[in-house]
Parts: sequence; structure tokens; C-alpha cells
Amino acid sequence: MRKTFKYRLFTTRLQSEALDGQLSEACRLYNAALQERREAYRSNKKSLNYYDQANQLKEIRAAGDLALANFSCCQDILRRVDKTYKAFFLRMKRHQKAGFPRFKSRHRFDSVTFPSYGDGVKLTGNILRVQGVGEVEVKLHRPVAGKIKTVTVKRECAKWYACFSVECEAQPLPILNNAIGIDVGLDSFATLSNGETIPNPRWYRKAQAKLRRAQRRVARRKKGSRRRKAITLLQKIHARIFRLRNEYQHRQSFRLVRDFGMIVVEDLNVKGLAAGMLSKSVQDAGWSSFIAKISYKAENAGRQLIAVNPAGTSQTCICGATVRKSLSDREHVCVECGLIAPRDVVSAQVILQRARISPSSDNVAAVSACVA
Ligand SMILES: [Zn+2]
Repeated sequence: MRKTFKYRLFTTRLQSEALDGQLSEACRLYNAALQERREAYRSNKKSLNYYDQANQLKEIRAAGDLALANFSCCQDILRRVDKTYKAFFLRMKRHQKAGFPRFKSRHRFDSVTFPSYGDGVKLTGNILRVQGVGEVEVKLHRPVAGKIKTVTVKRECAKWYACFSVECEAQPLPILNNAIGIDVGLDSFATLSNGETIPNPRWYRKAQAKLRRAQRRVARRKKGSRRRKAITLLQKIHARIFRLRNEYQHRQSFRLVRDFGMIVVEDLNVKGLAAGMLSKSVQDAGWSSFIAKISYKAENAGRQLIAVNPAGTSQTCICGATVRKSLSDREHVCVECGLIAPRDVVSAQVILQRARISPSSDNVAAVSACVA
């Protein structure tokens, strides 16, 4: 299984400049590849694929038009463009709000990936050799456990990091025969089928207010260094929220995987959920990244994660009857079987029930799609 290890890089000023240079070249390539696809589509309704673009790389580099040092990095950028295009067409197909792939500003383009370790990047002791940059010191606060596959060099709030994606052995936990269903909460982060709720953490609201203030400050300021400063501050707040949320999700997903043999969630890829009323709260809570965390931890521990069809989970009773509820109805009251319970708990129970009824082979595919 794959794991990621992230480390701070101690760069000299020259190295930071070299890294900045590599990123802006990568950004230029990204935008050029996007431009080419747009034009090909506009002028003769032809869509380019990854290979159409990758085949031109050698020539471009030979002509000295691209100063991104490592060839595989260039290929990786083109693969990113390909991925955003595929995601765009998938959204169109699902009749979701599509949003055409956008050009990136060099300030927002903040990482390059070396797709095969040893090609352009190598770690010896605490020194990382990066092609086009040199030997950079890494703060190895814990050892890289496993076989390094890819390395991503990243800029975050004007600091540099290296992310190592590592292949390592799974460590199964003792087998458990219990199961739990999880529902995306409206008021809380999530609700479990055993009646428990995972609350939204307290820092969340506070951080949101701070974020809005910082956003207003950026909007007020005109172009220039004062605006740049405000933007850096805004990025810092974003990074902090990301860090806190990530840590919270790691703690919660760890607990679920430790305590339950089978974990059942709604399949977010089913059309309608993301586009519907829930979309805002789903995005806010970072639901898909939470499921991704459960997924790899479950794989590591030998637990089962199942994604079920989300259609109507909030409008059904565990007895099978339809119980219509609007968003403001917090209580589930079934006239058929007499069940009275909080709505989210019933939804979580319906989700759990679906995993037990429908064949699991279909669901395995759904989970892998869910994580991708
Ligand atoms: Zn009922």
C-alpha cells in the first residue's frame, strides 16, 4: 500500500530561486499545453490526448524552449493537464457544473512531481539531490519507511517541502465482525448508525470567520506589494485550516478503522449528491478526503470499506417505508413501524443496511471509484 511522508526542506537563497524557477517553467508548460488543447478543440473540434502532447516534448526541449530540468517532470505536468481535461469531460457527462480547465497563475502553481524515484531526485541521508536545483537539506523528523516511489517538491506559504510517496507493507489489525454506517452530517461532521455523532470541531467556525476577514482584505487592496502580503496571510490561514482539518480527519478515521470491521459510506460519485442541496456542507467538511483517509487506513488494517448508492437514504426508514422529510425536519417519525429517532442516525442505519442487502462485488468497484 501507499503512504506519504512530508518533510520541510532547508533551502539556501539560491536554491529557493532555482526551485521558484523550476516551478514557473512547469507552470508555463502547463498553461501552454492547456492552450494547445483549447485551440485544437476550437479550430477543428479535435481533442488532443496525452501522447499527442508528450511526443512534442523532446523537440521543445531540444529547441531550448523549456528550462524545466527533468524530462519525467515535464511528462508529469502533461499528465496533470490530461487529468483535468478528463475530469472536466466527466463532469459534463454527469451534467454537473463543468467549469472549463483554467490557466494557472505562477503564484498558484506550487508543485512539481518526479514520477519515478531515482530519475532526477535522490535522497542520501538527509540530503535530497534535485535535478536543476542541487543538494537540498531535508528535515527528516521521522524516517521514510518503505520504498520511495515518487517525490513531489512543493511550495507552501513561501516555504519548501518534499513529499515522498512510499510503498510499504500492510499491517492488519485483529479481525472484527461488527459494522458501522456513516452519514454526512448537516449540523455535525458525521453521524454513525450506532447513534453517535462526530461533531464539527470548535476551531472550524472561528477559522471561517478569520478566513472571511482575510479574503475581504485581499479584495480591498490594489495590485502591489501590500496586496501580495495580504495574499500570503490568506494562504497561511488556508494552510492552517487544512492542517487542522487533516489532523482531525486522521484522528476520526483512525478510530473508525480501529473499532469496526466493516465501514459503510455513501458513494459520492453517484450523480445528484454533489450537485444537490448538500453540496456546500459536503465540500466544507472535506468529506471525500475523509473517505480517502478511511480507505487507505482500512486497506492497511485489513478492514472493509463499502460505498452504497446514496439515493433517498434520508427519505427511507429501516423498515423500508418512505418517510418524507424536509431539511428542517430533524426527527424521523415512521407511521409504518413506529420508529422515532434523529434523522441522521436513521440515514446512517439505512446506509449500513444497504451494504448488507446489495452484493458486495458491485460495491468494491464503487469504493475504488470513490477514492480516485
Ligand atoms: Zn419504519
